[in-house]
Amino acid sequence: MKKTIVTSMVLIALTSLLGGCSTNLSSSSTLSHSSKTAKTQTKRQKLISALPKGVRSTDSDLIVVNKWHQHNELNFSKATVKDIPVRETIVKPLTAFLKGAQAAGYPATLVSGYRSVDYQETVWNQSIKTYEAKGKSAKQALKLTKEFVAVPRGSEHQTGLAVDVMNTKWYDANDSQLLSKSDQTAGQQWLIKHAPEYGFVLRFTKTGKASTGIGYESWHFRYVGKKSAAFMTKHNLTLEQYVSLLKAREKVAK
Ligand SMILES: [Zn+2]
Repeated sequence: MKKTIVTSMVLIALTSLLGGCSTNLSSSSTLSHSSKTAKTQTKRQKLISALPKGVRSTDSDLIVVNKWHQHNELNFSKATVKDIPVRETIVKPLTAFLKGAQAAGYPATLVSGYRSVDYQETVWNQSIKTYEAKGKSAKQALKLTKEFVAVPRGSEHQTGLAVDVMNTKWYDANDSQLLSKSDQTAGQQWLIKHAPEYGFVLRFTKTGKASTGIGYESWHFRYVGKKSAAFMTKHNLTLEQYVSLLKAREKVAK
């Protein structure tokens, strides 16, 4: 029990320091005597000074949508890649990414791209109904849905900048399922490793859950642009953490 409390405190502290979304979780008083905090602060300062030039937290490619930062339907031009709708601005890099995988000998399937808030809401409601039909209480149905379905207005698929991409061979051999263990194949590993060269990052990493609110997904890629993708990958930063660093730099510059 005690260990759980300590772990949660550290998680809360890390979230607020490294960039989670809850700005009210001030940790200065609780952690002021910790040398670990001092180290974290130094590391944060170093990261801030190393941030790529010309990138701003308000850039449209860096919009953060998650369960703490929900958005109504966003307005942008759409186009399709292999019949999947995405934001028009990522058609070129996404096409190049898929071509790159193909050329490397690992054809990939674009499973999903833009999804509207309405669609997400339908998925959400259907999930609750399905659980209830299976005999779960309304409360249980909601709990299970929260676990497996992104809350309407809180899925970054609504940005048109997020795509689910799977190694075709694995995807076809596994009943078109999206499962983390797909990363055990060389093809999915290629996608994860080379995504930044095309401006994409693996959005939900193994270490990122505290700041993203979502567990590891070996197939969900997010376009952020090449400069940001390289920096985020090098320093193992989630988008939430990266944007928080950019905001800190902008605050100092004012
Ligand atoms: Zn996804």
